[in-house]
Parts: sequence; C-alpha cells; structure tokens
Amino acid sequence: MKLWEKNIRKVVPYVPGEQPQGSRLIKLNTNENPYPPSPLVIKALTEMDAEAFRKYPDPAASLLTQELARTYGVNQNQVFVGVGSDDVLGMAFLTFFHSEKPILFPDITYSFYPVWADLFRIPYETPALDPDFRIRKEDYFRENGGIIFPNPNAPTGLEMDLDEIRAILQHNPDVVVIIDEAYIDFGAESALPLIEAYDNLLIVQTFSKSRAMAGMRIGFAIGNPDLIKAMSDVKYSYNSYTMNLPSILLGVQAVRDQEYFQETLGKIVRTREETKVWMSELGFSFTDSKTNFLFATHNQVPAEELFEALKREQIYVRYFKQKGLDQYLRITIGTDEEMAVLRRFLERFLKDNGVFSPA
Ligand code: PMP
Repeated sequence: MKLWEKNIRKVVPYVPGEQPQGSRLIKLNTNENPYPPSPLVIKALTEMDAEAFRKYPDPAASLLTQELARTYGVNQNQVFVGVGSDDVLGMAFLTFFHSEKPILFPDITYSFYPVWADLFRIPYETPALDPDFRIRKEDYFRENGGIIFPNPNAPTGLEMDLDEIRAILQHNPDVVVIIDEAYIDFGAESALPLIEAYDNLLIVQTFSKSRAMAGMRIGFAIGNPDLIKAMSDVKYSYNSYTMNLPSILLGVQAVRDQEYFQETLGKIVRTREETKVWMSELGFSFTDSKTNFLFATHNQVPAEELFEALKREQIYVRYFKQKGLDQYLRITIGTDEEMAVLRRFLERFLKDNGVFSPA
C-alpha cells in the first residue's frame, strides 16, 4: 500500500436506482413524475437567453427563494435552496449534526442517510421500525445528536401524523430535527406549520417528484432564519454557486403553476388508488402509501423473481436486497397507460406460473 493511500477518505457510496436508456422501457424505479413539468416551465425554457449564461448566477438564488417564500407563506430568510434535496440534506448533515452523541434515523429509510453520516464521520444509531413498518416515536425520546426521518418514510410510503411529530419535537428541544418531505405532496400532512413553534425544526422538500423536475436538480429547506443562516454559511464555505441559472429560472415557473401542480398530483393519486385495487386482486398487499410509489409484496411469488421477470420485460421497478425489505418491490406510479402495461404483464406472468387465474 502506498503511503498516500492511507490518507484517502474512504466511503461506500450511495447507489441510486438504475437509469436505463431506451424508448420502449417503462421506468417505475426512481419515483420520477410520469408527467412533464408545467407548461410555464417549458415556455420559459424555450425563451431562455443563453447570453445570460456568460455571468455567474445569483449565489443566493433569490428569485427562487422569494417565490418559495411567497408560496409557503414564510419569509425569504427562512428558505434555503440547493441542487436537489440530496444537496440540501447533505448540507444539513454537515451543518447540524456536529455532536459527539449519535444522530438517530430509522433502520429502514432513505439509504443516503448512513452514507452522509459516514462521509462526515457522524456517529449514528438506527432504531428499528415496528413490525408494521412504522416509526416508533418513543425510540426518539432519548439523548441524541440530532434526528432525521422522511415523512412519509421511504421506501415504506407510510405517513407519521403531526401529533407524533410534535411529541418527537417536544422531547428534543436541544437538537435539530430534520423532516425529509420528499413525498409530502402526494397526500400526507406537512409539518411546515410547526416551524413557528419549534425553532429547531427543518423541513426539506424537492422538485424531483411532485413538480416533475428531477433532471433540473432543485431542492429546498424551510425553517427558522438561524437554521437557514447556519446552512448558508456552510454552503458558502464549500461552493457559492451551487444552483445554475436555468434551475433558478425554471424552478420559479414550476412553483408558480399551482393549478398544473394540483392537477398532476390528483392524477397520480388517482392512479395509485386504482393500482392498489387491481394489484390486490392479483395477490399483492402493500402499506398505506401516501407517496407516488407502492411498497408491495406478493402472497406467493418472491419479490426478487418478480423484479427479474419485470426487468426482462423492460419494466423497471426497485428491489432492495436487504434484510426486512427483500420481499418487497417499490413500484413508482406511472401514467395510466404504463400501469396498464404492468397489469397485463403481471396477469400473464402469474397465470403462466399457475398463481392466478382471472375470474
Ligand atoms: N429524500 C428521499 C426520501 C428520497 O427518496 C429522495 C429521492 N432519491 C431524495 C430525498 C432526494 O431527491 P432529490 O435529490 O432528487 O431531491
């Protein structure tokens, strides 16, 4: 081993879902929105003046923080934006989790959390979910260096209600509590109103799912101005110009189009509920997902077998070969047409395997 190798910061990276290419495939594996971004975004993109790229963008992305502040009824100094919520969450880990005591997050959750903790050398503990995949609030009523969990949780899709979140906050006035609301718009209740009462609460959301902008990389955090200032100080100590000009300008348009936002959310939620009905008829069961994905298991066929069979058919879903999750598939809600292709394939596959015979 060379001596310099000893000085390398070694990390085991997060592995994102596959991004297979091709026009025929059906991509239900990374919780993207099946609908295009708002027409206002498309219009602004076609009208964009490339001459403006000559200059650096506004490091504070003020146009976007202003629009978000207006939309969510907060002050501009309560909003932080970044390159996807991964960037915002990474900055939040670096800024707020700086204690000798372990931070806490569930054992089954967004698998990027342990990666950031390892990268930044933050000690952590991971309380187990209960047998119904729910977060047990009492596990977070003890000394710790900070708390983070998604609501709804991923990949379970389950929502924690605001009373339970309030109880966690009441037990933890001395650490920062981060709620990752990546999937909140698909039917769960946001903890945003609690930021007035709890100055240690940070809410993180993203444009990647409900606003159909995963490729633009926009995420944001809302919280007390002191939290936002602390995060901004860390960000400006690392890279001032994180958000590029197109993201700032197109992000503003996406937030403005509330009508389109509500309309596409409504479609996705309707498709999710319809999918639950026909999938149950095929022998699947799932958690009560409040997100744009289902966390589903079949009563006879192992999840891995289904995952492989779907992949051969160019239908991509997410499978986690991990204890506690390996009997489940995470299936993103696509368009009605995509879900119909999934349905036809599953009916045929289960029938061919002698598992299901349509009535
Ligand atoms: N949080 C959760 C719970 C997620 O599932 C994801 C999507 N991988 C993210 C955050 C990050 O999304 P993005 O960086 O695209 O905003």
